[in-house]
Amino acid sequence: MSVRNILMIGNEFLRKKAENIDVVKDPVEQYIQDLSDTLHHIQKEKKIGRAIAGPQIGYLKRIIYMEAEEQKITMINPQIIKKSLETFEVWDSCFSADVAFFGKTLRYKAITVVYINENQEEIHEDFTDDLSELFQHEIDHLEGILFTDHIINNQIIMPSSEIKDLDDSNWESNVEKGSKPVFVMFYSPTCAFCKQMEPYFYEYSNDFKDKVIFARVNAMISYPSFLKSGIIV
Ligand SMILES: [Zn+2]
Repeated sequence: MSVRNILMIGNEFLRKKAENIDVVKDPVEQYIQDLSDTLHHIQKEKKIGRAIAGPQIGYLKRIIYMEAEEQKITMINPQIIKKSLETFEVWDSCFSADVAFFGKTLRYKAITVVYINENQEEIHEDFTDDLSELFQHEIDHLEGILFTDHIINNQIIMPSSEIKDLDDSNWESNVEKGSKPVFVMFYSPTCAFCKQMEPYFYEYSNDFKDKVIFARVNAMISYPSFLKSGIIV
């Protein structure tokens, strides 16, 4: 097990173009293990994140690891070979920005990627919507491109504001005995829909922070005990 440090925006390394992987000579299994360990660590700590790219942990190699919603994809030497004409706007962020803010970016609605998987098979795969956006973001990392390069309007940046993390230990004091109404988001750290919703949650929390407490509950950990206590969601 090897959880590696995440390089942060400002580090020149993140601006370098990653090298193609030689599946025979390069220690591909170690790369995958380290990417997977580091992603799991971030998902636990930051409660967000679906994928990670080699350069973010100091490997200047063309490799991406994704794990979300019981789906795992390893992409070695990925290339986008087709992009839809249609684009869409999406709030985006990055571990390498410490998920401290979101910016609205423009992405292709659908892409086709050709890549080598962990079994050294060549795969052609179509991705749409959130996965299209996700892999455009990750493949950009291999080119030294960051999501901040895609921000449509630098004046519309959304900070990650103060949102309380609730669990079994502080639910009662904050919600049942709290002084203000509480707006709670039940989420899964690896859910694509939760990720899409999160920036809007931040936006509302900024707009209404004086009147309502905004909180979130990791449903993967605490949901069952709330259900037992009779709360219906
Ligand atoms: Zn990123």
